[in-house]
Amino acid sequence: MSAVTPLYEGKAKIIYPTDNPEVLLSYFKDDATAFNAQKKGQIIGKGAMNCAISAHLFKKLASSGIPTHFIDQPSANEMRVKAVSIIPIEVVVRNIAAGSLCQQTGLALGTALPFALVDFYYKDDALGDPMLSPDRILLLNIATTDQIDQLRQMALSINQILTEFFQSCSITLVDFKLEFGFDSRQQLLLADEISPDTCRLWDQAATDTAARVLDKDRFRQDLGNVEQAYAQVMERVLSQVV
Ligand code: UDP
Repeated sequence: MSAVTPLYEGKAKIIYPTDNPEVLLSYFKDDATAFNAQKKGQIIGKGAMNCAISAHLFKKLASSGIPTHFIDQPSANEMRVKAVSIIPIEVVVRNIAAGSLCQQTGLALGTALPFALVDFYYKDDALGDPMLSPDRILLLNIATTDQIDQLRQMALSINQILTEFFQSCSITLVDFKLEFGFDSRQQLLLADEISPDTCRLWDQAATDTAARVLDKDRFRQDLGNVEQAYAQVMERVLSQVV
């Protein structure tokens, strides 16, 4: 695809146009960033692993009634997706306290939450992706009250499906980030990716808290064996028939 000018290059993916304006090509890179791109590196093979994991999870979600942008996977690092206008909100669902929730609330790492928590963040690197309340989303004209409710309901449904799916892989889905967009018919679709870059995933078979981490926290916290953790997730996810 190198001869085609990208429409957009993000931290982990490059988006290319295709002959069909309703279809885009998403190329998954090995580049890894953390802490709002202050930490940069590469995770060898990550692009292909995240592409395969995401494709499989999008298929699973589609078969469970969640509309997604996924069309197919023409090569190891590439996914064909429906063109959407991305809503600039990162929707985070949390089942267990980790990351910024611990930092901002004082909850201990690993605390099981009494209900699935849905947090909204403004997708704006220059502002450092600040948390948004529903009122602030309305204030900024990013989404309507009905759309906020729809995002919340879809995120909670996706959480149920993925929690059960990862459970069958002996992995605990701690938290994850979703992005949504509207297609040309104004249908709300799940977009972006679902991978160890965007989820916290803990191995249920691990005996200590560092060994259990199968996601980007291995890169963020320099825990080592990053590629092996991603490969482990891919192997278990792809072994489940969807
Ligand atoms: N996350 C993400 N992209 C972001 C921020 C968060 O994919 O820009 C994911 C992250 O991997 C985790 C969840 O969203 O699975 C919750 O992240 P958190 O708010 O705890 O932030 P962090 O501690 O990662 O800064």
